[in-house]
Amino acid sequence: MEVWRVNVRSQSLSREELFQSWERLGGRGLLARIMVDEVIPTCNPLGPNNKLIFSPGLIVGHMLSSCDRISVGGKSPLTGGIKESNAGGRTGLHLTHLGIKALILEDEPENEGWRVLRLEGDSAHFESANDFDGLGVYAAAEMLLKRYGKKVAIALIGPGGVMGLASAGIQNIDKDRVPSRINARGGLGAVMGSKRIRAIIIDKSGGSKPDIVDHEAFKRAQAEFNQALMAQPQTTVYHDYGTAGMTLMCNGFGALPTRNFSSGEFEGAEKLSGEYMREILLNRAGESRTSHACMAGCTIQCSNIFGGEDGKRIVSPLEYETIGLMGANLGIESLDTIARMNWEVNDLGLDSIEVGAALGIAADAGLWSFGDGNKALALIDEIRIGTPLGRVLGNGAAVTGKVLGVSRVPVVKGQAMSAYDPRAIKGTGVTYATSPQGADHTAGLTIRAKVDHLNPKGQADLSRSAQINMAGYDTLGACSFAGFGFGAAPGTIRDLLNARYGWKVNGDVLQDLGRETLSLERLFNRKAGFTRADDRIPEWMTRESIAPHDAVFDVSDSDLDAVFDWD
Ligand code: SF4
Repeated sequence: MEVWRVNVRSQSLSREELFQSWERLGGRGLLARIMVDEVIPTCNPLGPNNKLIFSPGLIVGHMLSSCDRISVGGKSPLTGGIKESNAGGRTGLHLTHLGIKALILEDEPENEGWRVLRLEGDSAHFESANDFDGLGVYAAAEMLLKRYGKKVAIALIGPGGVMGLASAGIQNIDKDRVPSRINARGGLGAVMGSKRIRAIIIDKSGGSKPDIVDHEAFKRAQAEFNQALMAQPQTTVYHDYGTAGMTLMCNGFGALPTRNFSSGEFEGAEKLSGEYMREILLNRAGESRTSHACMAGCTIQCSNIFGGEDGKRIVSPLEYETIGLMGANLGIESLDTIARMNWEVNDLGLDSIEVGAALGIAADAGLWSFGDGNKALALIDEIRIGTPLGRVLGNGAAVTGKVLGVSRVPVVKGQAMSAYDPRAIKGTGVTYATSPQGADHTAGLTIRAKVDHLNPKGQADLSRSAQINMAGYDTLGACSFAGFGFGAAPGTIRDLLNARYGWKVNGDVLQDLGRETLSLERLFNRKAGFTRADDRIPEWMTRESIAPHDAVFDVSDSDLDAVFDWD
């Protein structure tokens, strides 16, 4: 495996052997290592000294169920700290088959044009993308597939990334060639835009599967993992209801963000539930599907295809986070409207969590009324047109709160919270507060733990364990739902790594990878100027309680400071 370093100024590629300290890492862990080794922590995230790094995880490349994810990272224009955002789709698998352990985009171009970066065989090519001007993600992906054929993987940005908006992500085509799998969080699409790369095409046809040192041992571990994954009840629940199955659970905990995080309970929750969505999709024939895999080989298939009454696809997938932030958080209880809003933000190449949070703040400021779906769509259109208000919204919740003078702004380190109110799920609140990634449920969600989520005691321990596990899974390239299988058969992680690489790691490898990754990320952030004061939930959430439990965030500062007790 190699590092491919692409200089966007000279339009050149250098292929390098891996440093020893990079060999044992992949995905999020390798990103963190490269960031610490090579990126000036105080650099301008949209300037020449930032790097945009793509790294498949350590076990990517074998179509292990749900384990072919791609991590993308750099310094975030949203948080000002380190950022990793991972996604499904084809990109991870294709990069691995070309032998690329990390693709690093460096510098900034001298002229204004837009380019496609095409990777194939052992070479990289720059081609003009100027004819994509004004196109959304869906139309651009279609043109790219026509131009480069249906077998390639594509990672691209939309108008949001072109405009340099801090909520812009990078979209990857899924196994059915739909550009739906987004490295959404932290504004990495704007970083790609600053390199003036509109799309990356990866053609793995000249490549091959990565070597496995011990095939028999790998097959045994794979079978054991598959069996454990299939035996878990959550595998069936996520297959049938997708992530939308979280809606009623969150509402029951009083943690469903409602009308800009002013309540944890939404009267329209039933109509936003996974159960209701399943019923709708089963009744609507045509393209609707209640389950769908974002990558080849995933047995969980937590995604869906949300079709309209005419049977035609509106968006795929419609996920809980979007339902929470663009539904309950905006007082909207129509899944059809949320699906349309989701399509629009996808087409713009934006993070639906960040835009949903920004729209909630705009409603709090009186710019529109909660529940008015048409007005919400019109505001998203302002982002597309690039009006000053649209650009404010597209730069995320923190900027929107500042510009509109709203103090109820649900962000940590400048990044919007996901659809779990930290006052009612306090362990996840600890994760929001302390994660080097800013507020992000994927950094360590605690809602499935059998604890009293309202009791502040013990939440720091819960979050620590969740954060270490997630950093470990992100380094492996495993979807968090693959964790259902790995959790039941933890030895399979060790066995897969030893079989693939010929290593001799022990049963603690997930913990070791997670801790090392978090330590590196924290080191980068410290050098960028972050202190303990940045590891806090917004002050208003410690004073303003939410219904139905009259809950505030009351985990002590000393508990927050003790999360990374090894670092
Ligand atoms: S479980 Fe869902 S998100 Fe994870 S790999 Fe499968 S389809 Fe993708």
